[in-house]
Amino acid sequence: MKFSYKILLSCIITMAAALGIGGYFFVNNVFETSMEREMEQAADENNILQFAFETAALNIPAKYDLLQNSAVKEIGANLEKRGQGTGRLLRLSDENREILYASEGFVEDTRLLASIEQQTRAYQVIHPDEHYYIQTGAEITALDRTLYLETMRDVTSVYEERARGFLVYRNMMLLILVISSVVMFFISTWLTRPIRLLTKAARKMTDGDYSYRAEQVSTDEMGQLTRDFNHMAGVLEENIHELEAEVQAREDFIAAFSHELKTPLTAVIGYADLLRSRKMDEEKHFLSANYIYTEGKRLEAMSLRLLDIIVTKRGELIPQEMDVEVLFRYLKDMYEEQQKHPFAFRYEPGRIYGEADLLKSVLLNLADNACKASEPGSTIEVFGEKRKEGYLFGVKDEGVGISPEDCRRITEAFYMVDKSRSRSHNGAGLGLALCAEILKLHGSSLEITSTLGEGSTFAFVIPYGTGTEGAGEL
Ligand code: ADP
Repeated sequence: MKFSYKILLSCIITMAAALGIGGYFFVNNVFETSMEREMEQAADENNILQFAFETAALNIPAKYDLLQNSAVKEIGANLEKRGQGTGRLLRLSDENREILYASEGFVEDTRLLASIEQQTRAYQVIHPDEHYYIQTGAEITALDRTLYLETMRDVTSVYEERARGFLVYRNMMLLILVISSVVMFFISTWLTRPIRLLTKAARKMTDGDYSYRAEQVSTDEMGQLTRDFNHMAGVLEENIHELEAEVQAREDFIAAFSHELKTPLTAVIGYADLLRSRKMDEEKHFLSANYIYTEGKRLEAMSLRLLDIIVTKRGELIPQEMDVEVLFRYLKDMYEEQQKHPFAFRYEPGRIYGEADLLKSVLLNLADNACKASEPGSTIEVFGEKRKEGYLFGVKDEGVGISPEDCRRITEAFYMVDKSRSRSHNGAGLGLALCAEILKLHGSSLEITSTLGEGSTFAFVIPYGTGTEGAGEL
């Protein structure tokens, strides 16, 4: 059953119960008040008759010193007649509670008569036929006799009034229930609208529409729930996109890896086949073997790089405080002797916090790339500057430069700007990917500024060593 119907049903049940109970007590209260009034009137009537009987008894002619039964009957008949217009019913009984006179239609029931006590007035409501009566009984003393007078007052109209009251109230209750059911239907539909909107959003998301959000239509708890749901949906969407991007990156990586593997392997297999199937002169033999050797070497370099990336990705940094001189000295030793590219070193002294071997590897990769991208003879500058956020290392060349599009993707594994040039240098697009991983471990990243045809600068910032921030003392 729909939630809105449940709300509607529970409201109708509650209202019906409340109206039913309330109505019952209301109508009954009115009835009881009327009955009390009737009781009082019945008592008054009985009292008046008692007085009238006693007066009539006193007026009996003096020859009778006793009140004869016949006189009692006569007085009874007279009293009944006098009250005929009002429908008076009475019964007179003697000392032994034997009935002396009874109006026509007076009940034969003598329970009340038996229960009348001295000085008290007894009542009972009786329902002999279709009518209701209040039967009142009292003891009367006339002359030397003690008699019992009973009267009956017709209260059928009070009972009919109660039945009518119930009927009117029931009809009114039904009308109220019908009207309020219609109103409640709209209210419950309005109240449950946020739930329907949330359900719709949940379904849309299940069907793959992760950007769908539930419309917020209120500011109450339901509105808060919608806000929380939308926030959760946002976080989930982000996570899903991240996972999708990760899966895509892995797929791209595997595709690029297979591709990079295929090219040297095809050459190796081709030349190996040539060597085993044909007799060749010594020079061709050497060239083929050399090709297999260089391609093998390239594969070896690639697998070592990949291994480095995987190890770096999984590894933990074991940083130490060190002097930047250690890193610049290392690069100087590596490049100062070679003739192809003049190296210029310009750096401020300083102390940093990092892992020396990994940082050496980053600088070496950047310096190598700069050499590969530059014409022989063009200067490569290696610099170090103190910045507010840390120590900045940089490698600047005047080489071919990189387009903005390539700049964005250059740190992806196997991404090569110029594939043939990279391959001719034994590259597979893994050097900068390794650098990026190492810098990530240091909480840093590569900043690349480049202009096509003019050269590039690769820079990164490493945090200062403790207590020596910005001091730069050697
Ligand atoms: P590889 O090991 O093949 O050199 P890298 O990841 O180091 O791969 O470099 C990725 C690509 O970026 C290379 O194809 C290279 O052409 C380009 N690149 C790297 N450094 C420079 C630079 N300083 N100037 C121009 N291009 C560069």
